[in-house]
Amino acid sequence: MKSRRKFIQQLSLPVILLPFASAAASEKSLPYDGPVLRVALLGLGGYARMVADAMQNCQKAKLVALISGTPAKLEAWGKKYNVAPENRYSYETVDQIASNPNIDAVYIITPNSLHKPFALQIAKTGKHVIVEKPMALNANEGQEMIDACKKAGVQLLVGYRMHFEPKTLEVVRMRQAGEFGKILFFQGLSGFIIGDPTQWRLKKDMAGGGSMMDIGIYSINGARYMIGEEPIWVTAQETKTNPEKFKEGVDETIQFQLGFPSGAVASCLSTYSLNNLDKFFLNGTKGFAEMQPSTGYGPIKGRTNKGELNYPHVTHQTVQMDEFASILLEGKQPLIPVDGAEGLRDLKIVDAIYQAVKTGKKVSLG
Ligand code: NDP
Repeated sequence: MKSRRKFIQQLSLPVILLPFASAAASEKSLPYDGPVLRVALLGLGGYARMVADAMQNCQKAKLVALISGTPAKLEAWGKKYNVAPENRYSYETVDQIASNPNIDAVYIITPNSLHKPFALQIAKTGKHVIVEKPMALNANEGQEMIDACKKAGVQLLVGYRMHFEPKTLEVVRMRQAGEFGKILFFQGLSGFIIGDPTQWRLKKDMAGGGSMMDIGIYSINGARYMIGEEPIWVTAQETKTNPEKFKEGVDETIQFQLGFPSGAVASCLSTYSLNNLDKFFLNGTKGFAEMQPSTGYGPIKGRTNKGELNYPHVTHQTVQMDEFASILLEGKQPLIPVDGAEGLRDLKIVDAIYQAVKTGKKVSLG
């Protein structure tokens, strides 16, 4: 088997791609004696399962505790992931983690409406808070979470897994280096056909909206990290082909446009009514980048005017959790932020998009 150093050298990784280096280093056989982030998962659903599986290959982060409203899951997941009974909690006993010195952070992976209440509760226990996207139902809630974590002296991170994906980082590096020239245009297409009409994603009180909260947020976030600026205005239009399934306040399809200080514009689509819709396109005066798929679990595929992006596929959640460990334990600054302020920037744009849909007017972002 190749040594880690040789493996990394052969890939000629630029410094910027360190997240990939940590993925390579995540091979279990490699010795690692640095600090390890001890993580509790809160809400044992579909995505938490993916995170738990991915964490089995982490080097710097370890799944040590489980928090669930379903006793049978605590039992089954506890056995599967080797989590001792004393590290399994219900929502009634979760405050007791405050006196468990073996937990550093809690990763909240519940329906969106529970992100804020659980974040406030976890912050009070003195543990770092990691929360899934969207960070909260709206910007006011996001701000409350930031304030609560600050007051409690804990850090707040949002599960933006694409911020560590190697091909994404390479495009950002090229844009920062001026290789695409002056950026003038971004297109983000994010969607899938949503199934079960009874699921929480289609309930406004639990999801906060519809496709925009769930999948459209990838295009918002992508427009920001691809262009490298914060938008100053938003326009948006909603289309609804199935008002029965997508009730008032639950958006099916929204087209939206973002304007940036440099003059660049983004044109995006968020929908729950089209599959195979996962594409980013960035265009500047000297070149372009095209990624399709751009935000799915991968492999991400991409090319620029200089050719294919040939970085190997990594398991996003493995790299994310190793990187989160470096951020929380060693103060590492990621190339694209993943803190509460980053989550809040997206929520402010989501709020503005909903306002633009409602009023039909261009909304300024202050
Ligand atoms: P699921 O419905 O599969 O799981 C949510 C879990 O939350 C449930 O299994 C349950 O776990 C817990 N829960 C607590 N209270 C409730 C309640 N009142 N109703 C329903 N569930 C409850 O959702 P997902 O895992 O798909 O999504 C969870 C979060 O993760 C969302 O915010 C979503 O946006 C995000 N996500 C992020 C992805 C990414 O790529 N970054 C991908 C998919 C989702 P228990 O039984 O243990 O209490």
